[in-house]
Amino acid sequence: MHLKPFTYYRPKSLAHALELLQSSDPKKSMLMGGGTDILTKMKLRLARPVAVISLRGLTELRKIEQQGQEVFIGAACTLSEVKESNLVQHFFPIVAEAANRVGSPQLRNMGTIGGNVCLDTRCLYYNQLEWPGSLMPCFKRGGEKCHVVKKGARCYALYCADIPPTLLSLDAHLIIAKPSGEREIPIVDFYQDDGISCNCLKEEEVLVGIKVPIRQNTVSSYKRFSIRGAIDFPFVGVAISIERLSNGHYGNPRIAVTGLQSQPLRLRALELLLESSHAGEKEIEEVIEQGVRDIRIVRHYGISPSYRRNVLKVLIDDGLEECNIKGGRVK
Ligand SMILES: Cc1cc2nc3c(=O)[nH]c(=O)nc-3n(C[C@H](O)[C@H](O)[C@H](O)COP(=O)(O)OP(=O)(O)OC[C@H]3O[C@@H](n4cnc5c(N)ncnc54)[C@H](O)[C@@H]3O)c2cc1C
Repeated sequence: MHLKPFTYYRPKSLAHALELLQSSDPKKSMLMGGGTDILTKMKLRLARPVAVISLRGLTELRKIEQQGQEVFIGAACTLSEVKESNLVQHFFPIVAEAANRVGSPQLRNMGTIGGNVCLDTRCLYYNQLEWPGSLMPCFKRGGEKCHVVKKGARCYALYCADIPPTLLSLDAHLIIAKPSGEREIPIVDFYQDDGISCNCLKEEEVLVGIKVPIRQNTVSSYKRFSIRGAIDFPFVGVAISIERLSNGHYGNPRIAVTGLQSQPLRLRALELLLESSHAGEKEIEEVIEQGVRDIRIVRHYGISPSYRRNVLKVLIDDGLEECNIKGGRVK
Protein backbone atom coordinates (compact mmCIF):
# COMPACT_ATOMS: atom_id res chain seq x y z
CA MET A 1 0.00 0.00 0.00
CA HIS A 2 1.29 3.47 -0.90
CA LEU A 3 1.85 6.34 1.47
CA LYS A 4 0.04 9.64 0.85
CA PRO A 5 2.44 12.49 -0.01
CA PHE A 6 3.97 14.36 2.95
CA THR A 7 6.92 16.67 3.59
CA TYR A 8 9.84 14.97 5.32
CA TYR A 9 12.08 17.05 7.61
CA ARG A 10 15.33 15.84 9.12
CA PRO A 11 16.48 18.55 11.56
CA LYS A 12 20.10 18.51 12.78
CA SER A 13 19.41 19.90 16.26
CA LEU A 14 16.72 19.67 18.94
CA ALA A 15 16.19 23.44 18.71
CA HIS A 16 15.48 23.09 14.98
CA ALA A 17 13.08 20.19 15.58
CA LEU A 18 11.16 22.24 18.17
CA GLU A 19 11.10 25.18 15.76
CA LEU A 20 9.68 22.98 13.01
CA LEU A 21 7.04 21.62 15.40
CA GLN A 22 6.06 25.13 16.42
CA SER A 23 5.92 26.52 12.88
CA SER A 24 3.82 23.66 11.47
CA ASP A 25 0.20 22.84 12.29
CA PRO A 26 0.52 20.51 15.32
CA LYS A 27 -2.54 18.53 14.20
CA LYS A 28 -0.92 17.82 10.83
CA SER A 29 2.69 17.11 11.77
CA MET A 30 4.18 14.05 13.46
CA LEU A 31 7.47 13.24 15.10
CA MET A 32 9.20 10.13 13.87
CA GLY A 33 11.82 8.03 15.67
CA GLY A 34 12.42 4.98 13.49
CA GLY A 35 8.95 5.11 11.90
CA THR A 36 8.22 1.42 12.54
CA ASP A 37 4.85 2.28 14.04
CA ILE A 38 3.80 5.54 12.43
CA LEU A 39 4.63 4.49 8.86
CA THR A 40 2.36 1.45 9.31
CA LYS A 41 -0.36 3.71 10.66
CA MET A 42 0.09 6.09 7.74
CA LYS A 43 -0.25 3.21 5.28
CA LEU A 44 -3.44 2.09 7.01
CA ARG A 45 -4.63 5.74 6.79
CA LEU A 46 -4.89 5.87 10.58
CA ALA A 47 -2.51 8.85 10.56
CA ARG A 48 -2.46 11.43 7.77
CA PRO A 49 0.33 13.89 8.62
CA VAL A 50 1.27 16.60 6.14
CA ALA A 51 4.73 16.88 7.71
CA VAL A 52 6.91 14.20 9.29
CA ILE A 53 9.80 15.39 11.45
CA SER A 54 12.48 12.73 11.84
CA LEU A 55 14.55 12.72 15.04
CA ARG A 56 17.26 10.41 13.72
CA GLY A 57 19.73 13.22 12.98
CA LEU A 58 19.69 14.69 16.51
CA THR A 59 23.01 13.70 18.08
CA GLU A 60 21.93 15.01 21.51
CA LEU A 61 19.15 12.37 21.48
CA ARG A 62 21.44 9.60 20.23
CA LYS A 63 23.70 8.97 23.24
CA ILE A 64 23.77 6.68 26.25
CA GLU A 65 25.98 7.97 29.09
CA GLN A 66 26.44 7.82 32.83
CA GLN A 67 25.63 11.11 34.55
CA GLY A 68 26.56 10.75 38.24
CA GLN A 69 24.23 8.21 39.80
CA GLU A 70 22.02 7.99 36.71
CA VAL A 71 22.26 6.73 33.16
CA PHE A 72 20.85 8.94 30.40
CA ILE A 73 19.41 7.09 27.40
CA GLY A 74 18.68 9.37 24.44
CA ALA A 75 15.21 8.97 22.94
CA ALA A 76 16.56 8.52 19.39
CA CYS A 77 18.79 5.55 20.32
CA THR A 78 17.67 2.49 18.43
CA LEU A 79 16.55 -0.60 20.32
CA SER A 80 19.65 -2.41 19.02
CA GLU A 81 21.87 0.35 20.43
CA VAL A 82 20.05 0.09 23.77
CA LYS A 83 20.35 -3.68 23.98
CA GLU A 84 24.04 -3.61 23.02
CA SER A 85 25.01 -0.75 25.37
CA ASN A 86 27.49 -1.87 28.05
CA LEU A 87 26.00 0.60 30.53
CA VAL A 88 22.46 -0.69 29.99
CA GLN A 89 23.55 -4.32 30.14
CA HIS A 90 25.55 -3.73 33.31
CA PHE A 91 23.14 -1.58 35.32
CA PHE A 92 19.72 -2.38 33.80
CA PRO A 93 19.78 -5.82 32.18
CA ILE A 94 15.96 -5.91 32.07
CA VAL A 95 15.91 -2.87 29.74
CA ALA A 96 18.36 -4.67 27.42
CA GLU A 97 16.22 -7.81 27.66
CA ALA A 98 12.98 -5.93 26.86
CA ALA A 99 14.65 -4.12 23.92
CA ASN A 100 15.79 -7.49 22.61
CA ARG A 101 12.23 -8.85 22.72
CA VAL A 102 10.74 -6.15 20.46
CA GLY A 103 9.66 -7.36 17.01
CA SER A 104 12.57 -8.53 14.84
CA PRO A 105 16.21 -7.46 14.20
CA GLN A 106 15.05 -5.13 11.39
CA LEU A 107 12.52 -3.45 13.70
CA ARG A 108 15.11 -3.15 16.47
CA ASN A 109 17.62 -1.57 14.08
CA MET A 110 15.11 1.11 13.07
CA GLY A 111 12.79 1.45 16.10
CA THR A 112 13.87 3.79 18.90
CA ILE A 113 13.44 3.71 22.66
CA GLY A 114 11.62 7.08 22.41
CA GLY A 115 9.14 5.60 19.94
CA ASN A 116 8.66 2.63 22.25
CA VAL A 117 7.96 4.86 25.28
CA CYS A 118 5.58 7.04 23.20
CA LEU A 119 3.98 4.08 21.37
CA ASP A 120 0.27 4.36 20.69
CA THR A 121 -2.25 1.86 22.03
CA ARG A 122 -3.49 -0.99 19.81
CA CYS A 123 -6.82 -2.63 19.10
CA LEU A 124 -8.09 -5.31 16.72
CA TYR A 125 -10.81 -2.93 15.53
CA TYR A 126 -8.52 0.08 15.10
CA ASN A 127 -5.23 -1.22 13.67
CA GLN A 128 -6.44 -2.06 10.20
CA LEU A 129 -7.92 -0.40 7.13
CA GLU A 130 -11.51 0.85 7.34
CA TRP A 131 -14.17 -1.85 7.17
CA PRO A 132 -16.51 -0.07 4.76
CA GLY A 133 -20.12 -0.31 5.74
CA SER A 134 -19.63 -3.01 8.35
CA LEU A 135 -18.94 -1.46 11.74
CA MET A 136 -19.69 1.93 13.23
CA PRO A 137 -16.49 3.94 13.76
CA CYS A 138 -15.13 3.50 17.27
CA PHE A 139 -13.98 6.29 19.63
CA LYS A 140 -10.45 6.14 18.23
CA ARG A 141 -11.75 6.50 14.67
CA GLY A 142 -13.81 9.54 15.66
CA GLY A 143 -17.03 7.67 16.47
CA GLU A 144 -18.91 7.19 19.73
CA LYS A 145 -18.59 3.51 20.39
CA CYS A 146 -16.12 0.98 21.74
CA HIS A 147 -16.38 -2.43 20.05
CA VAL A 148 -14.29 -4.06 22.78
CA VAL A 149 -16.29 -2.91 25.81
CA LYS A 150 -19.76 -2.70 24.30
CA LYS A 151 -21.18 -0.18 26.74
CA GLY A 152 -17.83 1.49 27.39
CA ALA A 153 -17.80 5.27 27.55
CA ARG A 154 -14.22 5.53 26.30
CA CYS A 155 -11.61 3.82 24.12
CA TYR A 156 -10.14 0.65 25.67
CA ALA A 157 -7.30 0.09 23.17
CA LEU A 158 -4.35 -1.71 24.79
CA TYR A 159 -0.88 -0.46 25.61
CA CYS A 160 1.57 -3.19 24.56
CA ALA A 161 5.10 -1.75 24.40
CA ASP A 162 7.85 -3.86 26.01
CA ILE A 163 10.26 -1.30 27.49
CA PRO A 164 8.01 1.00 29.60
CA PRO A 165 7.23 -1.58 32.34
CA THR A 166 10.97 -2.10 32.88
CA LEU A 167 11.48 1.68 33.18
CA LEU A 168 8.53 1.91 35.60
CA SER A 169 10.07 -0.78 37.77
CA LEU A 170 13.37 1.15 37.83
CA ASP A 171 11.74 4.50 38.79
CA ALA A 172 13.01 6.20 35.61
CA HIS A 173 12.37 9.85 34.77
CA LEU A 174 11.62 11.32 31.35
CA ILE A 175 13.18 14.51 29.98
CA ILE A 176 10.73 16.36 27.77
CA ALA A 177 11.57 19.47 25.74
CA LYS A 178 9.25 22.19 24.48
CA PRO A 179 10.04 25.59 22.93
CA SER A 180 10.02 27.32 26.35
CA GLY A 181 12.37 24.82 28.05
CA GLU A 182 12.64 21.32 29.48
CA ARG A 183 10.68 19.43 32.10
CA GLU A 184 11.50 16.20 33.91
CA ILE A 185 8.77 13.87 35.14
CA PRO A 186 8.69 10.45 36.77
CA ILE A 187 7.66 7.94 34.09
CA VAL A 188 4.84 6.80 36.36
CA ASP A 189 3.17 10.21 35.82
CA PHE A 190 3.57 10.08 32.03
CA TYR A 191 0.88 7.51 31.26
CA GLN A 192 -2.91 7.61 31.56
CA ASP A 193 -5.51 4.87 31.14
CA ASP A 194 -7.05 6.26 27.95
CA GLY A 195 -6.85 4.34 24.67
CA ILE A 196 -6.96 7.49 22.56
CA SER A 197 -4.33 9.44 24.40
CA CYS A 198 -2.25 7.15 26.60
CA ASN A 199 0.38 9.70 27.65
CA CYS A 200 0.56 13.33 28.65
CA LEU A 201 2.98 14.46 25.91
CA LYS A 202 1.77 17.71 24.33
CA GLU A 203 1.80 18.34 20.59
CA GLU A 204 4.68 20.83 20.76
CA GLU A 205 6.85 18.55 22.96
CA VAL A 206 9.68 16.12 22.18
CA LEU A 207 10.86 13.30 24.42
CA VAL A 208 14.60 13.97 24.75
CA GLY A 209 15.59 10.96 26.82
CA ILE A 210 15.21 8.79 29.86
CA LYS A 211 17.15 9.03 33.11
CA VAL A 212 17.43 5.77 35.04
CA PRO A 213 18.80 5.84 38.61
CA ILE A 214 21.65 3.41 39.29
CA ARG A 215 21.00 1.06 42.19
CA GLN A 216 23.83 -1.31 42.91
CA ASN A 217 21.95 -4.03 44.78
CA THR A 218 18.95 -4.63 42.62
CA VAL A 219 17.70 -7.92 41.24
CA SER A 220 15.37 -7.75 38.28
CA SER A 221 13.53 -9.71 35.64
CA TYR A 222 11.43 -9.12 32.51
CA LYS A 223 9.05 -11.83 31.31
CA ARG A 224 6.55 -11.58 28.49
CA PHE A 225 4.14 -13.81 26.65
CA SER A 226 2.84 -13.43 23.11
CA ILE A 227 0.77 -15.59 20.77
CA ARG A 228 3.70 -16.04 18.38
CA GLY A 229 7.24 -16.52 19.62
CA ALA A 230 8.71 -13.92 17.24
CA ILE A 231 7.60 -10.59 15.73
CA ASP A 232 4.62 -10.18 17.98
CA PHE A 233 3.54 -7.74 20.66
CA PRO A 234 3.33 -9.11 24.21
CA PHE A 235 -0.20 -9.76 25.41
CA VAL A 236 1.22 -9.64 28.92
CA GLY A 237 4.67 -8.42 29.97
CA VAL A 238 5.91 -8.22 33.57
CA ALA A 239 8.96 -6.32 34.87
CA ILE A 240 10.16 -6.86 38.43
CA SER A 241 12.85 -4.96 40.31
CA ILE A 242 13.73 -5.55 43.97
CA GLU A 243 16.52 -4.21 46.14
CA ARG A 244 18.74 -6.65 48.00
CA LEU A 245 19.19 -5.13 51.49
CA SER A 246 22.36 -5.36 53.57
CA ASN A 247 20.68 -7.72 56.10
CA GLY A 248 20.07 -10.26 53.34
CA HIS A 249 16.39 -9.37 53.00
CA TYR A 250 14.74 -7.78 49.97
CA GLY A 251 13.01 -4.40 49.86
CA ASN A 252 11.15 -1.85 47.72
CA PRO A 253 9.62 -4.31 45.26
CA ARG A 254 8.48 -2.75 41.98
CA ILE A 255 6.25 -4.77 39.68
CA ALA A 256 5.02 -3.22 36.44
CA VAL A 257 3.04 -4.69 33.57
CA THR A 258 2.20 -4.04 29.94
CA GLY A 259 -0.63 -5.39 27.78
CA LEU A 260 -3.42 -5.26 30.36
CA GLN A 261 -4.84 -1.76 30.11
CA SER A 262 -4.47 1.39 28.00
CA GLN A 263 -1.31 2.23 29.95
CA PRO A 264 1.58 0.30 31.47
CA LEU A 265 1.03 0.17 35.20
CA ARG A 266 2.60 -0.61 38.56
CA LEU A 267 0.89 -3.35 40.57
CA ARG A 268 0.98 -1.44 43.83
CA ALA A 269 -1.35 -3.77 45.74
CA LEU A 270 0.94 -6.69 44.96
CA GLU A 271 4.05 -4.65 45.82
CA LEU A 272 2.57 -3.84 49.25
CA LEU A 273 1.59 -7.43 49.88
CA LEU A 274 5.06 -8.64 48.94
CA GLU A 275 6.64 -6.13 51.28
CA SER A 276 4.78 -7.59 54.23
CA SER A 277 5.16 -11.24 53.29
CA HIS A 278 7.76 -13.84 54.17
CA ALA A 279 8.08 -14.87 50.54
CA GLY A 280 7.95 -18.57 51.20
CA GLU A 281 6.86 -20.75 48.24
CA LYS A 282 3.25 -21.17 49.37
CA GLU A 283 2.84 -17.68 50.67
CA ILE A 284 4.09 -16.16 47.43
CA GLU A 285 1.40 -17.95 45.46
CA GLU A 286 -1.31 -16.61 47.77
CA VAL A 287 0.19 -13.13 47.62
CA ILE A 288 0.22 -13.14 43.82
CA GLU A 289 -3.35 -14.44 43.70
CA GLN A 290 -4.49 -11.69 46.05
CA GLY A 291 -2.35 -8.97 44.42
CA VAL A 292 -3.75 -9.43 40.90
CA ARG A 293 -7.35 -10.17 41.88
CA ASP A 294 -8.68 -6.64 41.44
CA ILE A 295 -6.86 -5.60 38.25
CA ARG A 296 -9.36 -4.67 35.54
CA ILE A 297 -8.71 -6.76 32.44
CA VAL A 298 -10.94 -6.76 29.34
CA ARG A 299 -11.24 -9.29 26.51
CA HIS A 300 -8.95 -8.20 23.65
CA TYR A 301 -7.81 -9.96 20.48
CA GLY A 302 -10.04 -12.89 21.45
CA ILE A 303 -8.08 -13.53 24.67
CA SER A 304 -10.30 -13.85 27.73
CA PRO A 305 -9.56 -11.85 30.89
CA SER A 306 -9.22 -15.04 32.94
CA TYR A 307 -6.58 -16.51 30.58
CA ARG A 308 -4.70 -13.21 30.57
CA ARG A 309 -4.85 -13.12 34.40
CA ASN A 310 -3.54 -16.67 34.63
CA VAL A 311 -0.62 -15.84 32.31
CA LEU A 312 0.05 -12.74 34.41
CA LYS A 313 0.28 -14.86 37.58
CA VAL A 314 2.66 -17.33 35.94
CA LEU A 315 4.91 -14.54 34.64
CA ILE A 316 5.05 -12.87 38.06
CA ASP A 317 5.85 -16.21 39.68
CA ASP A 318 8.60 -16.93 37.12
CA GLY A 319 9.98 -13.40 37.52
CA LEU A 320 10.17 -13.69 41.32
CA GLU A 321 11.85 -17.06 40.91
CA GLU A 322 14.43 -15.52 38.56
CA CYS A 323 15.06 -12.80 41.15
CA ASN A 324 15.66 -15.54 43.75
CA ILE A 325 13.02 -14.06 46.00
CA LYS A 326 11.28 -17.25 46.96
CA GLY A 327 12.31 -18.34 50.39
CA GLY A 328 13.90 -14.94 51.09
CA ARG A 329 12.30 -12.23 53.16
CA VAL A 330 10.92 -9.10 51.52
CA LYS A 331 10.83 -6.12 53.84
C1 LIG B 1 5.51 -6.28 13.06
C2 LIG B 1 5.75 -5.40 14.25
C3 LIG B 1 6.03 -6.00 15.47
C4 LIG B 1 6.26 -5.20 16.59
N1 LIG B 1 6.52 -5.81 17.78
C5 LIG B 1 6.70 -5.06 18.89
C6 LIG B 1 6.95 -5.70 20.14
O1 LIG B 1 7.06 -6.91 20.26
N2 LIG B 1 7.10 -4.91 21.23
C7 LIG B 1 7.03 -3.54 21.15
O2 LIG B 1 7.18 -2.88 22.18
N3 LIG B 1 6.81 -2.92 19.98
C8 LIG B 1 6.65 -3.63 18.84
N4 LIG B 1 6.43 -3.02 17.63
C9 LIG B 1 6.23 -1.56 17.59
C10 LIG B 1 7.48 -0.71 17.28
O3 LIG B 1 8.26 -1.30 16.28
C11 LIG B 1 8.36 -0.47 18.49
O4 LIG B 1 7.58 -0.15 19.62
C12 LIG B 1 9.39 0.65 18.26
O5 LIG B 1 10.20 0.81 19.40
C13 LIG B 1 8.75 1.99 17.95
O6 LIG B 1 9.79 2.92 17.80
P1 LIG B 1 9.90 3.88 16.53
O7 LIG B 1 11.05 4.77 16.76
O8 LIG B 1 9.90 3.13 15.26
O9 LIG B 1 8.51 4.67 16.68
P2 LIG B 1 7.82 5.62 15.62
O10 LIG B 1 6.94 4.82 14.73
O11 LIG B 1 8.82 6.51 14.97
O12 LIG B 1 6.96 6.51 16.61
C14 LIG B 1 5.98 5.94 17.46
C15 LIG B 1 5.26 7.09 18.18
O13 LIG B 1 6.15 7.75 19.07
C16 LIG B 1 6.27 9.13 18.74
N5 LIG B 1 7.66 9.48 18.99
C17 LIG B 1 8.76 8.81 18.56
N6 LIG B 1 9.87 9.37 19.08
C18 LIG B 1 9.46 10.42 19.83
C19 LIG B 1 10.13 11.38 20.65
N7 LIG B 1 11.46 11.37 20.81
N8 LIG B 1 9.39 12.33 21.26
C20 LIG B 1 8.05 12.33 21.14
N9 LIG B 1 7.35 11.44 20.42
C21 LIG B 1 8.05 10.50 19.78
C22 LIG B 1 5.84 9.26 17.29
O14 LIG B 1 5.33 10.53 16.99
C23 LIG B 1 4.75 8.18 17.23
O15 LIG B 1 3.55 8.69 17.76
C24 LIG B 1 6.22 -3.78 16.48
C25 LIG B 1 5.95 -3.19 15.24
C26 LIG B 1 5.73 -3.98 14.14
C27 LIG B 1 5.46 -3.32 12.81
